[in-house]
Amino acid sequence: MIKRTHYVPGDWNAICDVCGFKFKASQLMKRWDGLMVCREDFETRHPQDFMRPIKENIAVPWTRPRPEGDTITDEVVTAADLFPPTFNSETL
Ligand SMILES: [Zn+2]
Repeated sequence: MIKRTHYVPGDWNAICDVCGFKFKASQLMKRWDGLMVCREDFETRHPQDFMRPIKENIAVPWTRPRPEGDTITDEVVTAADLFPPTFNSETL
């Protein structure tokens, strides 16, 4: 039978933060997210976490104000404005 507990001078028992199994503290490693994990649960941080995307400049290079007397407005025109109802259910 395998002896499940043993004494190591200067070492202590610790639980892996991921799998929950018991190890000696010297067998656990600190992972990038701060968890103390066993060898099987150790992983490095994904390289995409360090990507710095190039910022996009969405502003137009130049603009002009609207000319005087411009008939274009910011009002929203709906179909009901263009074609008002000429009858309703009471007139039928
Ligand atoms: Zn583990």
